[in-house]
Amino acid sequence: MSLLGTVALMFLASAVVMPLLAWAYASRALAPCRIKDDPGRKVVGPRRWFRVVGNGLFSAVVVVTMCILGERWLVHGGSDGWLVGTWHTVAILLLYDFLYYFLHRFAFHQWPPLKRVHTVHHMVRHPNAPDALFLHPVENALGLILLFACIAALGPVSLVCFGVIITAHSIINIVVHCGLDVPMLGMRLIGFLARKHDLHHTSMRGGNFASITPFWDRLFGTAE
Ligand SMILES: [Zn+2]
Ligand SMILES: [Zn+2]
Repeated sequence: MSLLGTVALMFLASAVVMPLLAWAYASRALAPCRIKDDPGRKVVGPRRWFRVVGNGLFSAVVVVTMCILGERWLVHGGSDGWLVGTWHTVAILLLYDFLYYFLHRFAFHQWPPLKRVHTVHHMVRHPNAPDALFLHPVENALGLILLFACIAALGPVSLVCFGVIITAHSIINIVVHCGLDVPMLGMRLIGFLARKHDLHHTSMRGGNFASITPFWDRLFGTAE
């Protein structure tokens, strides 16, 4: 498996999970589990899908470009044991979440040029899965650059570890936007994270800034 093959698998997994969650959100059977119905929703139709599909394609361009330019800092040719692989995965995702917390809290919510950029994502008050990609492309690129910078800072990592990190990042980002809280064992954590992010979307003045765990919001007093 090559580096770009691993990237293709991540996009394939995301391209399966996103429509599945969108279908679950739209299904009548799961309607009672929707975190919030949004009858007055403004982000609909071609306007929504143009941005969602456009950002999917743009993500592919940014990720492939960073892989080609930064391969030597991102992955090494060998394989790591499970202990090193787990350490790399957890440490890189936590570092990313920590730095993303500050990027989101201070740059996207307080610095006027990036606040205007981030307002696009907040136009969706109650998101469901495809809204993970309803973003300004600048926000999309900054998030991906930050993730790859974290991998390079603590890496290079094995190809397997790289695949796990970028896939986990993408799937978690889709899942927190799923708009569903299904009261079933195994789905509680997803519902918890989705509720927190739904609350974040309702205002530019709220909390819940971290994208992967609620840990940093708890630590810095911005958890809602
Ligand atoms: Zn925000
Ligand atoms: Zn969001």
